[in-house]
Amino acid sequence: MPLVKSIHIHQTPPMTDRPIKNAPDCPFSKRFPSQLIRDDVFFMSLAYNEAINAWKQNEVPIGAIIECNGEVAGKGFNQVESNTDPTAHAEMLAITQASAALKDWRLTDATLYVTKEPCPMCSGASILSRFKRVVFAISDPKMGGFGGAYNVNDYPGMNHTLSIEKGVMEEECKQLIQTFFRLKRDMPN
Ligand SMILES: [Zn+2]
Repeated sequence: MPLVKSIHIHQTPPMTDRPIKNAPDCPFSKRFPSQLIRDDVFFMSLAYNEAINAWKQNEVPIGAIIECNGEVAGKGFNQVESNTDPTAHAEMLAITQASAALKDWRLTDATLYVTKEPCPMCSGASILSRFKRVVFAISDPKMGGFGGAYNVNDYPGMNHTLSIEKGVMEEECKQLIQTFFRLKRDMPN
């Protein structure tokens, strides 16, 4: 059972006083991995499902899951447009949710799974959260904070470093984002 089901911090409904463009139809399906094998692919599959939730709200499809002791402690998907909030990245929403659920801002036993390499804000927040590990699917050579563009682990004076794993479900998560942008481009205005 996930630790949190009823917490909806930040997950406010979209503002209704501005037009909401329809999302392109999503040709991808959610994953239903076996609950018995709780490995990196299992939790990344759940992050992938969160990314599909983002797509359905016409948001760039990025999703995040925070695992602690084999359970989901927090989850989130990109909601920058619907919340009108530049900080409403999947990772930030998941971190807020996990900290509230675990009643601790130090997430030292937790792993963050995210479908794209965290940006400067989210990689910084990952260090502050003191995650044990961060696992991501796609590297981001422009903005990635864990080796794609730079590595926050390497900053001098950091009092916490975390282990990084990249490339888990890379192809699936890349297809999701690339197809989203392609279909958006093809949509009539
Ligand atoms: Zn971010």
